[in-house]
Amino acid sequence: MTKGGSRRALGAALLVAALTSTAACSEGSAPGAGGAPAPAAGQQAPAKTAARLAAEKKAALAERRAARAVAAKKWGLRLTPLEAPAPPRTKPRITTRKGFETDGEGLPPVFTTVPTKEKVVFLTIDDGAEKDPELIRMMRELDIPYSAFLSDYVVSDDYGYFAKMQKSQPRGVALHNHTLNHKYLPGLSYARQKREICGMQDVIEKKYGKRPELFRPPYGNYNEDTLRAAKSCGVKAVPLWASEAFPDHMEWREWDRDLHPGDIVLTHFRGEEDWKGSMPDMIRRVMNVITSKGYAVGRLEDYV
Ligand SMILES: [Zn+2]
Repeated sequence: MTKGGSRRALGAALLVAALTSTAACSEGSAPGAGGAPAPAAGQQAPAKTAARLAAEKKAALAERRAARAVAAKKWGLRLTPLEAPAPPRTKPRITTRKGFETDGEGLPPVFTTVPTKEKVVFLTIDDGAEKDPELIRMMRELDIPYSAFLSDYVVSDDYGYFAKMQKSQPRGVALHNHTLNHKYLPGLSYARQKREICGMQDVIEKKYGKRPELFRPPYGNYNEDTLRAAKSCGVKAVPLWASEAFPDHMEWREWDRDLHPGDIVLTHFRGEEDWKGSMPDMIRRVMNVITSKGYAVGRLEDYV
């Protein structure tokens, strides 16, 4: 700060002290005896308003953090999940990962990691067989975003579960496309692939009111026809995954067997008869991995 600047700041401080000293004295407390001085009546200095807003924001954040710590304890997480960084003002430009290209041009990008430098990863849950109400409650209380990629053959016996999920968080849980019948798409003709993908676009739009922008092919297998069909019915991007979470272990795509900024984490709606634990068991484990490595979970739709 310059000399003139510090003198001006001192002058302002003295003025504030003079304005507030009478109020402070009438309340019987010595000046500076804890807390910010009460603003003088009718005083609406912009700096003060900004300061008050900042303080309120800080208090809300602290409250959110405290609530999350309580929820983490309640749900048996070893560590309290970290607060996600603010989403980017503009979404990053996403291109197809090297080695994942098809010959077609102008097709939706296929990727496993979102371009970002922030220590943020994205949680995606596939298929939809297991419909555990505890999962919805746990994620809401922990305030952790996630996205679901639904396949109609396992969802259609209870569309209501995913309607509840969709509305279970303040900003919603996005429901995306994972085909009607979970087939190995490269083995199907263009017309049949189109029915699998565009048919599921229609189901989600009809049942949940919003046509998905994201599509994930079953097993991560696709060819050029898959991407052409997906594009034809409104799919913007094809997120695959960089790692996969199970209740008892992780599987990694990269040689370093680690998380990276922007990694997409895959897991499934499965129950104890399918793998070694419940949905909350799986979340407990993957969240401990994510948090212990210093990562937060972000909202995929803020980036893609
Ligand atoms: Zn699947």
